Order: sequence, then C-alpha cells, then structure tokens
Amino acid sequence: MDVLDTAELHDGYRAACAANELNRMARQHQRYRPFFVKDSAAQTISVIAGSIPLLDEVDIVILDPTADNGYPHTRPGIVCLPAIANLTETNLETTLIHESIHIHQRDNHDIWRIALQKEGWTELRLASVPVAFRERCRINPDTMATPFWAWQGVHVPLPLFSQSPRLSDVVIKWMDLRNGAVYSEVPPSFTKRYGSPSQPEHPYELLAVEFAAAGIRSTDMLEQKLRFL
Ligand SMILES: [Zn+2]
Repeated sequence: MDVLDTAELHDGYRAACAANELNRMARQHQRYRPFFVKDSAAQTISVIAGSIPLLDEVDIVILDPTADNGYPHTRPGIVCLPAIANLTETNLETTLIHESIHIHQRDNHDIWRIALQKEGWTELRLASVPVAFRERCRINPDTMATPFWAWQGVHVPLPLFSQSPRLSDVVIKWMDLRNGAVYSEVPPSFTKRYGSPSQPEHPYELLAVEFAAAGIRSTDMLEQKLRFL
C-alpha cells in the first residue's frame, strides 16, 4: 500500500471530497497521484526539507501538478507538494515550513486548542454550523478534522464556494452564532488582530502563515511561541 492510501485510511480526505457534490466537482479534472520529478528537483526539495527539524520523520510526496489545484497541503504524516513550476527555492522553503506547522497541528491538537483559546478562538462542534452551509464549504485537508472555530465566541469563518465549484473560487463569509446569519464584512476585532491575511478561513491557517513568516522551524521554537500567544 502506498503512502497516499495509508494517509487516506487515517483522514478520509479524498472520500470526503468525493461524497460532497461541490468538492467533487471542484476536483473533477485533477489527477491526484504521485508525479516523478527530475533528480535535481527532488534533491533541492530534500535539502530544504532537511533544514527544517519539524519535518524529521515526515515524508514528502510530489503530486501531479493538477492535484488540489497545485496547492501544497498535508495528509497524516506527509507533506503533499504538487509539482508546480513556480516554486522557487525561497518560496519552497516558506511553503515547507508552513506545511511542517500543519503537521505539528495534526499531531498536537490539544496544545493548539489551548493556545488558540487564549488567542480568542473556540473550537466548535460540527452541528454548530447548519448543514446547508457545511455542504458549501471547501474541504481543506489541513483543517478537516476540526473545521469550524468561532472568533471571540461569535464569528465563524466559512470558506464557501462562490460562483462556480472551483478550488480557487472561494469567499470567506462570517457566520454569526447569535443569529445564524452569514455576513461578508470581516469582524473589526479580527482585522485589528490579523490585518487582512491571505487565508482567513481557519486559525490553523492564520498561525501557519504567521509562524512560517517568523522562520519557526523546530518543535521547541513552535511550542515556545504557542506558550506565549
Ligand atoms: Zn496552509
């Protein structure tokens, strides 16, 4: 059994996508399978990965360039890197650090949940979000185990498919837990803390971007940072 099959047994990501109409359509012409790159490219990736202690024990799988729209992501114990041509060495390093932080989140959910609580985030049960909204959310392999969180106990970011079911065509709307309505306006308290981030859909994404930009690459650095959030 290959590493992707093993990952699927643990997270059910591909099955979840297949079972949801919009997520299935958004991935229908993509080839989600390993892809062979030149030895020199594989060597570059392995040297950079070797400089990131968070990736010790983590496999890197190169996928077809079309897989998940070319978006790098994680599965249990592996970083999946679609073979897109525009990964330069600099953004490859930032990308691998970002993904290594997602691996740490997968393996240490309790540490993250407690740290995020201090930051103002509350993890929600699935049933807190009506099924009509849940069905329209883009499934993110990095966050699918705990997809919904409330900011300041009230505002829940939802990555909703917009005009067409494409992975790149998603808008973040904010569900208000007090009345169940969905708003386009970003809560001012969120903007005050995070500015206008590229991936506001989930606190794991927000902090993976922040921590990667801060150059955090080892477990010690990461856990120290989480303690002082
Ligand atoms: Zn991410």
